Amino acid sequence: MARPAPSALKYLSGYAPALLAQVQERIGEGSLGRLLLARYPAAHAVRTDGALYDYVHELKAQFMRRSEPLSKVAYDNKLHIVRNALGTHTTISRVQGGKLKAKREIRVAGVMREVPDEWLRMIVVHELAHLRIREHDKAFYALCTHIEPAYHQHEFDLRLYLTHLDLGGQPLWPAPAAGGAQATD
Ligand SMILES: [Zn+2]
Repeated sequence: MARPAPSALKYLSGYAPALLAQVQERIGEGSLGRLLLARYPAAHAVRTDGALYDYVHELKAQFMRRSEPLSKVAYDNKLHIVRNALGTHTTISRVQGGKLKAKREIRVAGVMREVPDEWLRMIVVHELAHLRIREHDKAFYALCTHIEPAYHQHEFDLRLYLTHLDLGGQPLWPAPAAGGAQATD
């Protein structure tokens, strides 16, 4: 079977060649999706912006209590997950009562609505860490791995999934059918 063109691994640039060779092998076997499903059997249940808001604030209360409050948390289907560095964090300056007030927003790419909890958590940890550190530097990733020790593993696995989708693979965690009979709690 043909090896995929190097561009097929665009979500994985920067990882070690030996690791990428293993990924190429999985792709060649067509087993990348199966591998991810075995490792992550289920998706999270954070479906709405409201649920995402609560999810983010729970993590923030636990690890970033003293950081400034967030004005908005939402899924954004227009966000491109990689171009926007896995998510976006914006600071909007508004004049309020004569004082310039910065408002922090966290937007999460729509594709993250239907992924395992570990990956959503990883993205949220990334965005929360930006409340304290703006750049993607050593201190930034130290903070990410302090909050979530498996941060790098989860980011890599998310990138494997994006690669799977990019190669025409089906979504692995479809949303439950609308109006389905199953109750959730
Ligand atoms: Zn970032």
